[in-house]
Amino acid sequence: MREIELLKLIRSDWLKRATQALAPASSLRDNFWPELERFFDRIEQAVESNNPGFLDPIIADWSTSQTQSELQSTASSLTEILNTLMILSLEVCKDTLGEDDSFTLIHPLLVIYGHAFSRAAELDSQAKVNFVSNQLSLTNQSLEKLNRSKSDFIAVSAHELKTPLTLIDGYASMLKETLEQGAFSSYQDVLLTGILNGTRRLHDIINDMIDASLIDNEILNLSFQPVWLSQLISILATENETAVKERRQTLKIIPFEGMNQMTYGDPERLIQVLRNVLTNAIKFTPDDGAITISGRKLPGFIEITVADTGIGIDSEYLSLIFEKFIRLGASALHSSGKTKYKGGGPGLGLHIAKGIIENHGGTIWVESLGYDELACPGSTFHILIPIRIDPPDARIAKLFGSLLNNIK
Ligand code: ADP
Repeated sequence: MREIELLKLIRSDWLKRATQALAPASSLRDNFWPELERFFDRIEQAVESNNPGFLDPIIADWSTSQTQSELQSTASSLTEILNTLMILSLEVCKDTLGEDDSFTLIHPLLVIYGHAFSRAAELDSQAKVNFVSNQLSLTNQSLEKLNRSKSDFIAVSAHELKTPLTLIDGYASMLKETLEQGAFSSYQDVLLTGILNGTRRLHDIINDMIDASLIDNEILNLSFQPVWLSQLISILATENETAVKERRQTLKIIPFEGMNQMTYGDPERLIQVLRNVLTNAIKFTPDDGAITISGRKLPGFIEITVADTGIGIDSEYLSLIFEKFIRLGASALHSSGKTKYKGGGPGLGLHIAKGIIENHGGTIWVESLGYDELACPGSTFHILIPIRIDPPDARIAKLFGSLLNNIK
């Protein structure tokens, strides 16, 4: 008998058994029946035309009707359904047809089911990839939203804190001046100096919060001017002389090619970067340690390195420390002194340094053999600044034009 006639013979039995298998609850069977009839029609068309692709539309429909929990699970319910239908088809053939007829039909059926399985697997993995990437983009959107509101919150609260703090700072300074003119005990001096130091530290933290939010919102403005790195480094060395002495450390500056080269950059912001990196080097290097500032000229860039003989950084945190609010080690270690050994901070310094350098078109990274407070493997920060011979905008070119001509 021809295969198509054999299919007609098993049709009603197949439909009955398939409905029972897929919808054990009799109330659901009415919904399944037409879909299974459609499936069987497709099998007939596939057998008749010798083209298993006839099943593709129904497989695609079943694949898109998968539920969210099915997409989240690793097992595919579509493959399970096809598996049930295939086993059932073989059983119906065996029970309804004679041995020869059964063999005649089973062969094309297996080809068709084989095709259906591979199509289902393809669609299934496609649906899963789409589902995961949709979930990912939703998560990204909400993370971005959260990050933006965090930045807004930081900016607003920092500005709100700055006003009363300026008042406290101003009045405390005035009080100190007034008292200095009259009788002023050393005890009162200590109290007032404490208040002033505290407010200055708070000022620094608030300014860091504002800078971090300017960077995160991509609205950091750089004021490009001619800069010489040698000048910035020597300002910084003078600024940190007392701290280095207090910690009995040595700060060595090794002159390098490019140090005296003029480039356009924002001197205030570049000093801020070097200050953040250097104060960290002082902070995370034990007493008697050494810090070396050096560098080299590269094609189109000047590289500055700040190397210390400090506690070092674990390899897994080498890039993480440039993220906001990252502090390694015990977070309880807060200190009012900026350069006290392992003193805590808000964890914004390197994030800001990275933002400033990237806004200049450069990069910053750190190398360390690992974290070890006893062996002190040290850390080396690399700062790459592009050499700009021409100012970034015409206004600045006009302003510094004559200076530039003299240098050229
Ligand atoms: P903060 O503003 O609090 O100083 P940073 O962003 O500058 O924070 O630094 C983040 C963290 O990176 C520090 O708390 C410290 O754990 C680690 N770190 C930075 N510089 C060094 C260094 N030179 N040696 C060891 N650890 C460092």
